[in-house]
Amino acid sequence: MNPLYKNQSLKLYNSLSGEKENFVPIHEGSIGMYVCGPTVYSNVHLGNVRTFMSFDMIFRYFKHLGYNIRYVRNITDAGHLTDDGTVENDRFVKQTRLEKLEPMEVVQKYTVYFHRVLDLFNFLPPSIEPTATGHIIEQIELAEKLIQDGFAYESNGSVYFDVLAYNEKGLNYGELSNRNIDELLQNTRDLDGQNEKRNPQDFALWKKASPAHIMRWNSPWSEGFPGWHLECTAMSTKYLGEQFDIHGGGMDLKFPHHECEIAQGKASTGKEPVKYWMHANMLTMNGQRMSKSTGNYILPMELINGENPFFEKAFSPNIVRFCFLQAHYRSILDISNDAMIASEKGFIRLMEAVSNLNNIIPQNKSSLDLPTWKKNCYDAMNDDFNTPILIANLFESVRFVNLLLDNKETISTEDLSDLKITLTTFLFDILGLKNETLSANNSGKLEGVVEMLIGMRREARANKNFALSDQIRDNLQELGIQLKDGKEGTTFSI
Ligand code: AMP
Ligand code: ZN
Repeated sequence: MNPLYKNQSLKLYNSLSGEKENFVPIHEGSIGMYVCGPTVYSNVHLGNVRTFMSFDMIFRYFKHLGYNIRYVRNITDAGHLTDDGTVENDRFVKQTRLEKLEPMEVVQKYTVYFHRVLDLFNFLPPSIEPTATGHIIEQIELAEKLIQDGFAYESNGSVYFDVLAYNEKGLNYGELSNRNIDELLQNTRDLDGQNEKRNPQDFALWKKASPAHIMRWNSPWSEGFPGWHLECTAMSTKYLGEQFDIHGGGMDLKFPHHECEIAQGKASTGKEPVKYWMHANMLTMNGQRMSKSTGNYILPMELINGENPFFEKAFSPNIVRFCFLQAHYRSILDISNDAMIASEKGFIRLMEAVSNLNNIIPQNKSSLDLPTWKKNCYDAMNDDFNTPILIANLFESVRFVNLLLDNKETISTEDLSDLKITLTTFLFDILGLKNETLSANNSGKLEGVVEMLIGMRREARANKNFALSDQIRDNLQELGIQLKDGKEGTTFSI
């Protein structure tokens, strides 16, 4: 059978050209995709989860279309420095001091946490998950090559990429973020440690470790550690080749990280390393970007356990996933209690439709235009992975199902099976949601249990066992279930 991609023409927005382009992989039928992974020095927050979720959905859709896709997402476990490259700003060293742990203990702790979070949100594992510390040799080799070819220089045991030399060879540093090197030079502050560099825009490929720096490796230049940008070039080219199809990450990585990756790639091979650059937009909270450093963030577990007062109740990972995918990956999404409540309602309606499909009795013919609906679903995904439009189409199917249940429309056996397969494929395989029946069926059960506890509380009161009756009320309250005593008896709200 022909793979689906043969009949679908997909467009995606390429940050490099600033346009939606037809997607044509370098090798027909195969895709190489690299996404910058987390820096495992602390817990991932919901913002990080959103970016990785966007690429999980993209990975899932490519798989669905029948592509043979190799998805590489690294773990940054060494040397993610801020611009000045001083030891005080190495995120691992900072956290190690704070927690009094071995650096690799920090790495292990947060890598495990990251994987747990991804499992909770039903992410597919990438094909390869390489670590920066596992690729020190490759990074040293790359830095050596860049020095040999005149694109990098050693200074006081550290190695820097020479941005001006790169530009003098006509290679145009700044092509992704549309920055002009002269402007950059004018706007750069004179930061500590830059006196080693020929030019403030030069970035570190290797840093000599100061005595305080615990993570260190031998190299031809010094005992030190690799620069952050170098690891992604070393690992992406090792596993995907000198030129590969897609490179992704959050919007904030466009500059300088991805710009530097392009420079390293072009300088070392003479080729554009990546065909399509994709950038996912930010999750905000109270209109501000979610970020660890500003304290404006929510941890995934806090939302799931209902521990953060920003939300009036707990939400399951599925609802978080549904809420995130209701926004386009290139749009900013502001998380709020109202948005989560609305997503929960919508999700329950969709799950009810899925379960109601089993109650429909097929007829001889269909009165529904199923092919057009199906095409609309694919068209949405083929238009730069437009999940909000896809979800609007999935809601359209809820309307169908209700009409079918009311016998206002008819459906044939074949179409009913097609509707079921299409709806569940989009919901579960492509959007990665789980068929969680927190829906009507289960909330009915929950109500039954609460009614039962109300009855037990009534009995406890009648027996003057007020300690037990208060305990029931308080425990329910802790779970977000409020009891209200009135003339008519006790009612509750969830
Ligand atoms: P980091 O561990 O800081 O390198 O971040 C991991 C990924 O999360 C990167 O792709 C970032 O661009 C992305 N990211 C960071 N903050 C946010 C946010 N508020 N919303 C969406 N993605 C984010
Ligand atoms: Zn990267």
